[in-house]
Amino acid sequence: MSLEFLQDSVQFLKGVGPHRSNALAQAGIHSIHDLLAYYPRRYLDRTSVARIAEVQAGSDPVTVLGTIVQTAIIPGRRTRRFEITIEDEPGRRIKCVWFQGVAWVSKSLEKGSRIAVHGKPGKYGAGLSLSHPEFDLLDEDSTSLDTGRIIALYPGTALLEKSGFTSRTFRKIIYALIKERGEELQETLPAHVVSENELIDGRVARRAIHFPKSNPELTEARDRLKFEELFFFQLMLATKRLGHKKIPGTAMRSGGPLERHFLDDIIPFQLTGDQQKALSDIRRDMANGVQMNRLLQGDVGSGKTVVAAIASLIAIDSGHQVAFMAPTEILAEQHFRSIGALFKRLGIQIEILTGSTPPAEKRAIYEGLASGQIKVVVGTHAIIQDKVVFQNLGLSVIDEQHRFGVLQRAELTGKGTTPHTLLMTATPIPRSLALTLYGDIDVSVIRELPPGRQPIKTKMVREKDRTAVYAQMKQVLAEGGQCYVVFPLVEESEKMEDLKDAISGHQAIQEAFPGVQAELIHGRMKSAEKEEIMARFVSGESGILVSTTVIEVGVDVPNATFMLIEHAERFGLSQLHQLRGRIGRGSQASTCMLMAEYRQSEVSRRRLNVMESTTDGFKISEFDMELRGAGDFFGTRQSGLPTFRIADLTTDYAILERARRAAFSIIDADPELKNPEHSKMRRYFKLFFERDGLRLSRIG
Ligand code: ADP
Ligand code: MG
Repeated sequence: MSLEFLQDSVQFLKGVGPHRSNALAQAGIHSIHDLLAYYPRRYLDRTSVARIAEVQAGSDPVTVLGTIVQTAIIPGRRTRRFEITIEDEPGRRIKCVWFQGVAWVSKSLEKGSRIAVHGKPGKYGAGLSLSHPEFDLLDEDSTSLDTGRIIALYPGTALLEKSGFTSRTFRKIIYALIKERGEELQETLPAHVVSENELIDGRVARRAIHFPKSNPELTEARDRLKFEELFFFQLMLATKRLGHKKIPGTAMRSGGPLERHFLDDIIPFQLTGDQQKALSDIRRDMANGVQMNRLLQGDVGSGKTVVAAIASLIAIDSGHQVAFMAPTEILAEQHFRSIGALFKRLGIQIEILTGSTPPAEKRAIYEGLASGQIKVVVGTHAIIQDKVVFQNLGLSVIDEQHRFGVLQRAELTGKGTTPHTLLMTATPIPRSLALTLYGDIDVSVIRELPPGRQPIKTKMVREKDRTAVYAQMKQVLAEGGQCYVVFPLVEESEKMEDLKDAISGHQAIQEAFPGVQAELIHGRMKSAEKEEIMARFVSGESGILVSTTVIEVGVDVPNATFMLIEHAERFGLSQLHQLRGRIGRGSQASTCMLMAEYRQSEVSRRRLNVMESTTDGFKISEFDMELRGAGDFFGTRQSGLPTFRIADLTTDYAILERARRAAFSIIDADPELKNPEHSKMRRYFKLFFERDGLRLSRIG
């Protein structure tokens, strides 16, 4: 009954020793558990191996298997290359070529060896070739392929390979391990989870992932191990969530005078069903004596701000203050204007505090917050500075929370005793990522847009269409509408040279639209200047706003019904979606034109096609993940997304959902995992997952 043996070092395994165990350690393999979870990258069997006779140049990657009949190092003018020729049937040959790592590859591959190679076939004179293929030496294993065996191939690293670690080495070591100590492997999941989810036994799965007896068995083993990996991660989130639920918070009752007045007399519309639902979640959270920790997710224009305003009134009605934090000054201004306009009619004192607030005003605001005179402060990270002291902060609303560091969020929530926290994001993310990233906090989603919105028409256009595009813009302007023209920006921090496009674009627009006020806005401007430009666009004084991506988030000008995105092929999908969300915010139909180069990659064409086909942010985010893979979904921005060994958030949503349900219902029923049928799972969790979980940066 020992799970502990999984912690033993690999060093003492048959076939390892100190030298090899060093190489393994470099690859992150320290314990037996690590080794067993070093999953194969691919499998060879009769059905996955192509005959050389069938291979065609230019096809998708193929795996072929044969004997090396020729090897040669061929000197070139500056570099040399290494070539081998493989034959699988008499006269059927394919060449493999290496330009890099020649010394090492040529030492490893000898004439007469059996080898499997994997790569994209190309032409080589009259014959076929693979350039820099993945390869595995096979020898004695390969004959057994003919009898239906499946052979695992392992991911290599240069270091592993230099220490003599081939897939064959892995197979040998793991085979010996399972043969000698396989008895000690344990089922790690409770029996009811295994049966309810129709999983195969954990011990079988651990053997079969390395030595599958058949393809169906391999599939079952893979599904089982994916489930297990996702299950333990969700178990960690469920535990974390339970921790949040123990933090007391001030109970604030809904239905006070300000809230009622606002709902009855101030807002000129009915809340949508999704807004109502989000609001009832929030009301429950704020009233129940536990700190609220909720994320409000909804596309741009879905009406999150109104919901946050009502939450604020609940806090103010019960004698508390509210802090509203936005990632940029423009957004803070925007919130201040829109919420300010609503709240002033209620007689609530609301102020804005940013980096560019003059010192004297700042001091007055600090005083007003400390005395409790000021009920709401809207601002950038300036509101989390030490000097800011609240009399009684009851609610923090954090907009576009992913743009703030974890520390900044923690500081704002540290400003009151335990203020309720409402996070908001207009960046839809795929469901599988949401359940992983925000799996420990409560989420409300607004999918439904307010009624009366006209769908946005989106069209990809070319340079030759520019005259027609301008003609349409003129029409929009003539009818009293306004237009955005957006230029991409390569860097987050806008460099002068990146701005050239936008600056010359602005000049071109001015020439093409005489008599129309066209203004340029970009991130390098002083914020006072930006504010003035925005104010003139909001008031309708200027008709065209030429901008870089500073308008990406949250800007709300319902009268702007046309957007031209220049060099659209350079933007990512989520950014295109965010940009487009600036239009279609009023009752007029809106149009978005994506100006794209003729020459563009397959992926960028698909991105633009997706933009043409839908405006649903959640659908777009799912496409984006499909195109980029879950790991790259957030680009370079640090996301806190864990890396899984076998599960893939791009494809395994169904498994994730089942694993989550199982994990959360266990924690619901047995929060401390005291039930004896959970004891083995609990030990395994403590030994191998809890510590890993702590590496992840979490929000909330
Ligand atoms: P978000 O913050 O989600 O981007 P906003 O709260 O700024 O969206 O709402 C966008 C626009 O829609 C605002 O002008 C707002 O007044 C309006 N709006 C919000 N909710 C409704 C509703 N239920 N019916 C009609 N208009 C609404
Ligand atoms: Mg908003």
